[in-house]
Amino acid sequence: MALGAVWVFAELSQGRAATGALELLTKARSLGATAVEAVCFGPEAGDAVAELGRHGATTVHLSADAAFAELLLGGPAADTLAALATEHRPDLILFAATHAGRDVAGRLAAKLDVPVIANGLDIEAGDAITVTTAIFGATQVVRTEFGARRPALALFRPKSVPASEAPAGVAPRVVEVQAVIRECHRRARVLERSTEVTAGPRLEDAEVVVSGGRGLQGPGSFELLREVAELLHGAVGASRAVVDAGWVPYSLQVGQTGKTVKPTVYIACGISGAMQHTVGMRGAQTIVAINKDPQAPIFKLADLGIVGDALTVLRQLRDELRSRPG
Ligand SMILES: Cc1cc2nc3c(=O)[nH]c(=O)nc-3n(C[C@H](O)[C@H](O)[C@H](O)COP(=O)(O)OP(=O)(O)OC[C@H]3O[C@@H](n4cnc5c(N)ncnc54)[C@H](O)[C@@H]3O)c2cc1C
Repeated sequence: MALGAVWVFAELSQGRAATGALELLTKARSLGATAVEAVCFGPEAGDAVAELGRHGATTVHLSADAAFAELLLGGPAADTLAALATEHRPDLILFAATHAGRDVAGRLAAKLDVPVIANGLDIEAGDAITVTTAIFGATQVVRTEFGARRPALALFRPKSVPASEAPAGVAPRVVEVQAVIRECHRRARVLERSTEVTAGPRLEDAEVVVSGGRGLQGPGSFELLREVAELLHGAVGASRAVVDAGWVPYSLQVGQTGKTVKPTVYIACGISGAMQHTVGMRGAQTIVAINKDPQAPIFKLADLGIVGDALTVLRQLRDELRSRPG
């Protein structure tokens, strides 16, 4: 049975289409759908249209209602999307597994009484729509087929698919949408947004990630990690243990409940290699592990393993990098 329209719920990030939306549009193009469309809500939605089009959206259902930024996104977005889906009947709606994406997809599934599959890694559409997910800390892969109810809803981990522009991207048709804002959703307002200012590349986009765990002994060691990351033009990551200990902010956490990274080189320093960590970094091209315990599980995954004190090795690496010209 041919796949009807596939929609991508496109979140905004600093006035642009979020990378997750572009990744999902790239995937949606490969499914053989009758149409690939995006849904974008927020005052800056208009600014994202061209980029969504370049990545394959032929139509953008758009509302620039200020309420989408002033209120918590989940309720109004799910209500508006439910009205749209009831009118246009897409077969499949894809969401990035962000906080907002999860919130909207969960609410929408309940409103439309349709299934949602979370934590997707891949999706195929033939006679049925099948989503691949990883479970038990990515030790097992499961393929789940949607039944006949439509729309099927699926959430995908960031970086499941690399984003690429469509060979013949077009200027999409823009359909202005009436926002559905219920009174109950006006009871909570967003008072403040803060953007974390970071030097160097974003963790999710960095070609080199230097990550630290509890083996670094204390928060002060992260200064050394930052120096090494900077010399390698990379970003700093962390295990959950050190985030939970308050050494570094959550935004640095790599893993199941943190970020997924796919750098060219991942350097794990004093990280044991628990499944919940490795699920977020095992896609790196080359993994280097520094750990004083030769039995540490991270060495099973590492391309290059250094058994030793992480701080000593990092200091040597820093000094060596500093001594190199350029
Ligand atoms: C539901 C759930 C979700 C989770 N999500 C995440 C997640 O997203 N990301 C994540 O990272 N974890 C996550 N965890 C936690 C995970 O299971 C581990 O507890 C955590 O990754 C361990 O962090 P760590 O490797 O820094 O610490 P530890 O396990 O304590 O390991 C420290 C390592 O440092 C080594 N070491 C000690 N001293 C030195 C030294 N001087 N030099 C070199 N090496 C040294 C030790 O040999 C050890 O291997 C999750 C857990 C659960 C239950």
